Amino acid sequence: MAKKNRHAYPDVPERLPHDVVDNHTHLPVGTDPGGSADTRDYSARPENEMPPTVAEHLARMEAAGVRAAITSGCEMPDLEESAALAAAHPGRIYAALAIHPNEAPLHCGIAETGPDGLEHGLDPWHRECSLEDAVGLVSDLARQPGVVAIGETGLDRFRTAEAGKAAQIEAFRMHIALAKELDLPLQIHDREAHEDCVRVLLADGAPERTVFHCFSGDAEMARTCSEHGWYGSFGGTMTYKANEDLREAFLAFPDELVLLETDAPYLTPMPWRGHPNAAYACAYTARFGAELRGVELADWCARLDANTREVYGI
Ligand SMILES: [Zn+2]
Repeated sequence: MAKKNRHAYPDVPERLPHDVVDNHTHLPVGTDPGGSADTRDYSARPENEMPPTVAEHLARMEAAGVRAAITSGCEMPDLEESAALAAAHPGRIYAALAIHPNEAPLHCGIAETGPDGLEHGLDPWHRECSLEDAVGLVSDLARQPGVVAIGETGLDRFRTAEAGKAAQIEAFRMHIALAKELDLPLQIHDREAHEDCVRVLLADGAPERTVFHCFSGDAEMARTCSEHGWYGSFGGTMTYKANEDLREAFLAFPDELVLLETDAPYLTPMPWRGHPNAAYACAYTARFGAELRGVELADWCARLDANTREVYGI
């Protein structure tokens, strides 16, 4: 592979021998790169550095053997557009909806500097909409066809500091209840909050299909999840050299509890780390996973695909 500008999108990998689904991505809507509220100017960039349009995403997915993607809308400005995107592309794009854990405190008027040093200011939609109303909108939209999950919700101890904790836990609990009410799978964002996520799930009772999206725990956490029948959804981070713990966690999950995702536009799998990510690139992670498990690629892809159907019914 020729070394390219870090803005360049990954090459479309060779087509997988069996179709898979990107279980968690962020397609361009609202605030996402290339979406309607993304105001950056990409016009000076060469073609392979332009954020793909939705049509281009779909064409590249097709070429890579990625038959569908679940796009997560998890901020107020992205909710309706994500649901609409799914409605416009039946069978190819599905939606997961929630108020992101780092958005939850903002809807409660709590804007603080996170442990990561980033300041979190209030946008107009935070001021105008309480947490209850925001989750209410998720609840309304989640009944639309094409919306197949509640997510991403959960806990984030990296971005949200002490003052926001209670709001984050409250939001997580509201989403757990909503997933159960609508009988939808739950996609959990767990950043440096493994124990607390497990504690809240067990206290409230986890939805029947519970997924730790972009799994970031170790082998012990994987065993805890497995005991409860919770899924580990793995993205590009498992391909990074330093993440040996994550590979051990991946191997600690039984085959039937592993899912595949990108969490694009970030966390691009090797050999494209540092470049923008996109749904089609989950094919790199599928290959990596098959090799790591020491199984045939076609069998592994079929397994991942069957697991996706089991959880999301797609
Ligand atoms: Zn995500």
